[in-house]
Amino acid sequence: SIVVTGATGQLGRLVIDELLATVPAHRVAAVVRNKEKAADLAGRGVELRVADYSRPETLADAFEAGDRVLLISGSEVGQRVAQHAAVIAAATAAGVAQLAYTGILGGPEADFRLADEHKETERLILESGLPYTFLRNGWYTENYTEHLAPVLQHGAVVASAGEGRVASAPRADYAAAAAAALTGEGHLHQVYELSGDTAWSFAEYAAEVARLSGKEIAYQDVPAETHLSVLTGAGVPEAFAEILVDVDAAVRRGALARRSGDLARLIGRPTTPVAETIEAALRTA
Ligand code: NDP
Repeated sequence: SIVVTGATGQLGRLVIDELLATVPAHRVAAVVRNKEKAADLAGRGVELRVADYSRPETLADAFEAGDRVLLISGSEVGQRVAQHAAVIAAATAAGVAQLAYTGILGGPEADFRLADEHKETERLILESGLPYTFLRNGWYTENYTEHLAPVLQHGAVVASAGEGRVASAPRADYAAAAAAALTGEGHLHQVYELSGDTAWSFAEYAAEVARLSGKEIAYQDVPAETHLSVLTGAGVPEAFAEILVDVDAAVRRGALARRSGDLARLIGRPTTPVAETIEAALRTA
């Protein structure tokens, strides 16, 4: 089977959609921790395998020999190395044919805190000896477009990234790449640096939101400490706000601007322009 973990998450659902466009549903399995949340997937004929990254014993039946597996990195920052290690151990014990992993753009060269768990996970996968595919995802455009409400309200895009650029793409593009890597040939022992075709600056992003919304929006480049207090003031927990400010420092250094063309090549089309994702977000805002 082709097995997707994190299948009830936003990226996971999009990967399942992509797979079902080309693969019969009975060959697709979803590893989920909450069966109720996955009822719609079962309804589409996808096999459900219930397991929790944090409870290794539940992973024993998650994989079968010969499965092609996509490990979607967990969302519980700080716990992910142990969680991913448990998934890798279960996949190794089962003898899967492929373990694809959604890491982070730059891999071992990514020099910001959020990258640490991804780097360690890739190391563990290499150590396991499993045939791997590293899908090193750049930033989702939605990281920004999901937070348009305060931008429209205050007329400002607040960040601490200076003139730094982000080669983002929407989740759907990364999902299409993952599906291609799971269904196509020639992707074992391969590393893909996935990012959008265009790297935009926050000033350009603000101008694009202004153009599409018809409102006055400016980029407000603030010092890291100010950014931190804006985020915590908006309800982001302090520890995560620090990680986000650290990401902006990385953006300033160009760490998320890398463009290799791998994403467009894997999906066989240009990546989705940021304007399209902004427009879609404005329609539902
Ligand atoms: P979501 O939060 O929507 O999905 C995360 C998925 O992981 C969910 O299906 C969740 O299950 C599952 N999961 C989390 N913890 C566990 C666990 N202990 N056991 C089993 N499953 C678990 O995130 P996205 O889909 O948007 O993104 C996917 C991943 O990409 C994130 O988890 C994160 O690692 C990374 N990411 C990347 C970003 C980028 O810009 N490149 C931005 C943000 C995240 P459940 O549905 O039950 O909650």
